[in-house]
Amino acid sequence: MPHLPEHLLAGYRNFMNGRYLTESGRYRELAREGQAPETMIVACCDSRSAPEAIFDAGPGELFVLRNVGNLVPPYEPDGEFHSTSAALEFAVQSLKVKNIVVMGHGRCGGIRAALDTNSAPLSPGDFIGKWMSLIAPAAETVSASTFMTATERQTALERISIRYSLANLRTFPCVSILEGKGRLSLHGAWFDISTGELWVMNKDTGDFERPVLE
Ligand SMILES: [Zn+2]
Repeated sequence: MPHLPEHLLAGYRNFMNGRYLTESGRYRELAREGQAPETMIVACCDSRSAPEAIFDAGPGELFVLRNVGNLVPPYEPDGEFHSTSAALEFAVQSLKVKNIVVMGHGRCGGIRAALDTNSAPLSPGDFIGKWMSLIAPAAETVSASTFMTATERQTALERISIRYSLANLRTFPCVSILEGKGRLSLHGAWFDISTGELWVMNKDTGDFERPVLE
């Protein structure tokens, strides 16, 4: 007997009777033609910051990579297991996406963990600790700022980590070459869960600003 939590089965029923019904032609076309999304989103695993919901995206529109803290590690072709780099490689080299958006969000638990270095690992493997140590230098700098409140430090590191990931994206030769040719553009965004506000990074200044919506 198939076994899945009831709320997932209920959601799937709604999907088949709703969205799939109205978009079945699109799904069939995507199955036939393959996917060709123009945009890759690097987002956090956080259940409150789903890119498809925030950008109202249909099937085939967004190639989404989610990991803890929406981090992109630096380019390291060392034969280890690099899931984020694998997704990036596929998006850029095979799908030939035109945009990559690194989207952080408010109240990020991963970022909070990076700031709170005194807390015990969640398991002996301390996978989160190791992963978030990517931004340890930035976290130490932000933590040292005694004039900031805890909330301000959290928001600051959430936004710094987006700039950090964008800088790491450019350490991948395929990304920097295509960006140099004008065939790929990189973007930063930060989503405020409590208000629904999306702040977009200004390419020239690195500041996060509210876009003017029509
Ligand atoms: Zn998060």
